[in-house]
Amino acid sequence: MESEIRCFQHCKRDKNILCQTIPLVCPICRQDTLKTEMRIPPYLIDSPFIDASFTQCCVVIKPTIGSFLKDFTNQSDLHIGVTNSRGVVYEYDERGVTVGCQTWSDCLRVTVLDINSENSDFVKKWDQDLDLAAQESLWTAGKYTETSHNCYDFVMSFLNRLGLQATQRCLQDRRRFCEEMIVPVTARAGKFISLYRDIKRKGCVVQDVTV
Ligand SMILES: [Zn+2]
Repeated sequence: MESEIRCFQHCKRDKNILCQTIPLVCPICRQDTLKTEMRIPPYLIDSPFIDASFTQCCVVIKPTIGSFLKDFTNQSDLHIGVTNSRGVVYEYDERGVTVGCQTWSDCLRVTVLDINSENSDFVKKWDQDLDLAAQESLWTAGKYTETSHNCYDFVMSFLNRLGLQATQRCLQDRRRFCEEMIVPVTARAGKFISLYRDIKRKGCVVQDVTV
């Protein structure tokens, strides 16, 4: 996959080598990586990105324009949606509510609900309420405004309708919602993104192992 990053150690226990394809020579000792032993063989590092279809009852985010890996900066506008229990995305923008759009293959997820066998009734309610919200006259194309009636309002209104603001106080306020739920997730992803771009530029990156 395009966004995969591999990590291995060749000759030094305190240096990780990060890359997309294994370099022919070790960037540290310049020995042939095929003919010499690696201290730690390559493994994939966890990517923060996920295809929304693999999520359940989550908030999902992606850049309004382009992708996280290629286009995202701290100034990028983010688009936000909600998935149902089968990973179908519900989102609101100037077209009104769209259900099941396939453009969410590299998004970030914000978990607002722990899904387990004990809350299957709540999950059912989540799906039903999401379908109701999608049909509400509040979320038509004509009512969309970029600043005060947009994708965030749709998501927060839905989560509040479910009563989640009682346990997640930050849902009462859009600024707090962004600061407490969205920014920590994008900040973590930001580290992966800068590493990815560094590797794209240099081929591989050597990092000190932090204990
Ligand atoms: Zn080496």
